[in-house]
Amino acid sequence: LVRIRGLRKSFGTHLVLDGVDLDIRLGEVTVLLGPSGSGKSTLLRTINHLERPDAGFVQVGGGIIGYRYRNGRLHELGNRAITRQRARVGMVFQQFNLFPHLTVLDNIVEAPIAVHGVPRKQAAARARELLERVGLAGREGSYPRQLSGGQQQRVAIARALAMEPELLLFDEPTSALDPELVGEVLAVMKDLADSGMTMIVVTHEIGFAREVADTMVFLDGGRIIESGPPAEVLANPRHERARAFLAAVL
Ligand code: ATP
Ligand code: MG
Repeated sequence: LVRIRGLRKSFGTHLVLDGVDLDIRLGEVTVLLGPSGSGKSTLLRTINHLERPDAGFVQVGGGIIGYRYRNGRLHELGNRAITRQRARVGMVFQQFNLFPHLTVLDNIVEAPIAVHGVPRKQAAARARELLERVGLAGREGSYPRQLSGGQQQRVAIARALAMEPELLLFDEPTSALDPELVGEVLAVMKDLADSGMTMIVVTHEIGFAREVADTMVFLDGGRIIESGPPAEVLANPRHERARAFLAAVL
């Protein structure tokens, strides 16, 4: 489903992604690990074209994000076309990023109505189904500030799902949560993984990675230095930097 080749990105003179290659099959869960500043967030943001790559490409389901073929050549898409394309890739952030002035329901239906032109009634019905799926049935009238962090993050997941994405990206989705709220969010993510959703998850929750990930990828200095089934990577990191990092978080 996802094919990343030779992805490079610099900010000024600072090389943040240094030639990333990654393949993800439909329904697979990839957990991305690595020290602070190794480029994890930048990689996720480049996958859905929130950052424009300097070189290389990201293919999701065949099409190259940010571009299209015409007359045998790649043409860069305009902002509106990229927005439509990006809708195929959902993203969940550390800080939830819900709209504070909108109810839970309005947070979820906003994008499907604006981007896909879904009729409001239909979007609302789907939103209620999704709220039930993340364990928040009946909370559609609440405002984000009336919810716990774990509940807000589950709303953010429902909001991402409302766009019917082919791929979901999670950037440290439990890092801002009190420890007792981490489990409820990971349970929803595990449920999604079991239902066949293709996901890339940046997290330091090694237990989740071990149980849910098909592939564990270790990023260091903008390069993938380890990649494989979690049991293998955890038991036998080949690279010294990965070994040191894992020793610190395990
Ligand atoms: P963390 O674990 O702290 O979230 P990370 O692996 O997600 O780290 P990134 O956020 O991808 O790392 O950042 C990688 C490097 O790129 C950092 O040195 C960061 O300062 C730099 N960087 C990221 N975004 C920008 C930007 N928009 N402009 C300039 N530099 C940036
Ligand atoms: Mg980050």
